Amino acid sequence: MTMKITIVSSHGGPPEIGIAAKGKVFTASTSFEYVHQKANGAGTIALMSLILYPDLLEKFNREALLNGVQRDINCVTLLPPVPDASRPIFCVGKNYHDHVAEGARAGEAKDTPKSPIFFTKIASNAIGTDAPIISWRETAEIDYEAELVVILKKRVKNILPSQVKEAVFGYTLLNDVTARDLQRKHNQWFKGKNLDTFCPVGPWIVTADEIEWPPHLNLTLAVNGVKRQNLFTKDMIFDIAAVVSELSKGMTLEPGDMISTGTGAGCAFGMEKPEWLKPGDVVEIRSEGIGVLRNYVLEPRGESD
Ligand code: MG
Repeated sequence: MTMKITIVSSHGGPPEIGIAAKGKVFTASTSFEYVHQKANGAGTIALMSLILYPDLLEKFNREALLNGVQRDINCVTLLPPVPDASRPIFCVGKNYHDHVAEGARAGEAKDTPKSPIFFTKIASNAIGTDAPIISWRETAEIDYEAELVVILKKRVKNILPSQVKEAVFGYTLLNDVTARDLQRKHNQWFKGKNLDTFCPVGPWIVTADEIEWPPHLNLTLAVNGVKRQNLFTKDMIFDIAAVVSELSKGMTLEPGDMISTGTGAGCAFGMEKPEWLKPGDVVEIRSEGIGVLRNYVLEPRGESD
């Protein structure tokens, strides 16, 4: 059964793992937490333990839905579902033909990549749905990129594309927010893609069990309700199997690792007159079967204005 696994905070309280279902979030009962702690000698249930131990995930899901604490989903904060913030989020650039084409119109290379182009986003920088993207003064060109993220459940190295399916735990959405002017200034991608808050992830992780392989999903992105992007994951230049296989060559990938698979056309930098994100804008990524990742853009406040 497909599950939507969330990390939630209620009224500013500590993060808890929850199951999202029917407009509610179910978290474990105190007694279930107590039994888990006795059995594992560990603290509260972590997202990583649910990835590592499928039996615990089944038990947790059953218990939370039957005996857990239920809250209206609109009354909790959905935190970014990042299993291990000490690992980077691996990303692929230029992985859709129409995005390569719009990049070429904006002055970037026009050739289709012959191998996946990897870079990383800082996972500890991730924000959840409904959290603000800050429009830092260091950039005047904030762009958006709707992407599908795959989450691994196994430690893998040098795996073949045909082995990747067995290593996938689930999926979520990511907005690869990018400062285009900083990308150009520094002549690489890392800095412009890693300003604080430039990493919305969520709203939850959908487990892979009932999603067909390879996942053929449609993602749309709208700014203030106007659709800008409409991509189909079947159009990736390098599909998930190829991307994970290539990334794992000579480099161990860990359970909980997240790989963001690139975006399609419709970014601001591809427009004749780019409509960059500005304070007050609402950016919404939707994918049927996963959910909605919605963020708004805010002016900076405080010491680093
Ligand atoms: Mg991207």
